[in-house]
Amino acid sequence: MKRPEILAPAGNLEKLKMAILYGADAVYLAGKSFGMRAFAGNFNEAQMQEGIAFAHQHGAKVYVTVNIFAHNEDVDKLPAYLKKLADYEVDGLIIADPGVFALAQEVVPHLPCHLSTQANTMNWRSALFWQKAGIKRIILARELNLEQIAGIRRHTELELEVFVHGAMCWAYSGRCYLSHHLEGRSANRGQCAQACRWKYYLVEQRHPGEFMPIEEDERGIYILNARDLCLLDYIGQLTAAGVNSFKIEGRMKSVYYVSLVTRVYRQALDAYWADPENFALDPAWWRELEAVSHRPYSTGFLVQNPGREGQVFESTEQVSTHEFVGVVQSYHEQTGQAVVEMRNRFAVGEKLEVVGPKTDPREFTVTSLINSTGQPIAEAILVQEHVSMPVPFPVEPYSIIRRKK
Ligand code: SF4
Repeated sequence: MKRPEILAPAGNLEKLKMAILYGADAVYLAGKSFGMRAFAGNFNEAQMQEGIAFAHQHGAKVYVTVNIFAHNEDVDKLPAYLKKLADYEVDGLIIADPGVFALAQEVVPHLPCHLSTQANTMNWRSALFWQKAGIKRIILARELNLEQIAGIRRHTELELEVFVHGAMCWAYSGRCYLSHHLEGRSANRGQCAQACRWKYYLVEQRHPGEFMPIEEDERGIYILNARDLCLLDYIGQLTAAGVNSFKIEGRMKSVYYVSLVTRVYRQALDAYWADPENFALDPAWWRELEAVSHRPYSTGFLVQNPGREGQVFESTEQVSTHEFVGVVQSYHEQTGQAVVEMRNRFAVGEKLEVVGPKTDPREFTVTSLINSTGQPIAEAILVQEHVSMPVPFPVEPYSIIRRKK
């Protein structure tokens, strides 16, 4: 049995670095070309090169998504892009389109190709087909149970990647046009607006403007609002089933989310790997998963078809026990001062919590604050300003600062 990797989302350079520092073996990201994630926070060429260098320095891998369903005009531009990715020394390409795959094999044959989940691989015959074609890894469809995953492993030697955490699609693995239709943001180009979770009304054709609520209570009904996936309980069984990569979903999530979720799965996998016989879930891991924004968790399709239990009908709100406040840039042992990049307002007198790549959550009270011009302040209000404050114990750089809600 080979030790699986923890694969984290990298929506931007900061998230890439934090994911790796918090334990990711590999990250996946998109470039700006071909409309694959056209939003801010995507990687330009310089950022991609810096991210890859950082990852490789830390022994981590970088996979780049080239998983658009390409049109003819995309195909013409792809060879130059693929060559550039090879020059940057990416560790793998994530591809959905057979034409793009064939092109990658011609242009950059040494680069491993991973078959995107959008190819919906659901059975070992498909897996075998892709194995023979030259695919190195398959990112399995989320709609598989544990036995089906194990069955695919028994018939193939491919690397298998499985989503273990994050938002679930109401549609089959992102094969959905709702977001594109309503918002012009295509899920098939990584731009989903999560339109399935909006609040809907019925309007009868001859009664325009009369919105008929399809409600179960006064807040409405969210007919397509899937719970979030969380397979922390199944880390051992997935490893035993021969899964090679545990994927965390969420390139659009905050750096706080990516860091802490990665940290939990890192710790859980390490604990399992060290002693599978006596592995037990640490309740602290669950507390951390509750501390980040999420919808109520479910095990997706892994145990059984989720049915009604896989949906949240009451609300589309995300919940969390804690709120992100900042990231520690440095800590000076002699003075006991931490420099923190502020992300959400906080003030003198507040009780905050620090959690680091290697250190467990620990509380302290803010006794004073100095802003970036050296002036004492009562409250940090400027996002991304570097403020100094005393912390009564050593703090790792890149620790997260947060507060209980
Ligand atoms: S709109 Fe909903 S179902 Fe469609 S791709 Fe987005 S998350 Fe999935």
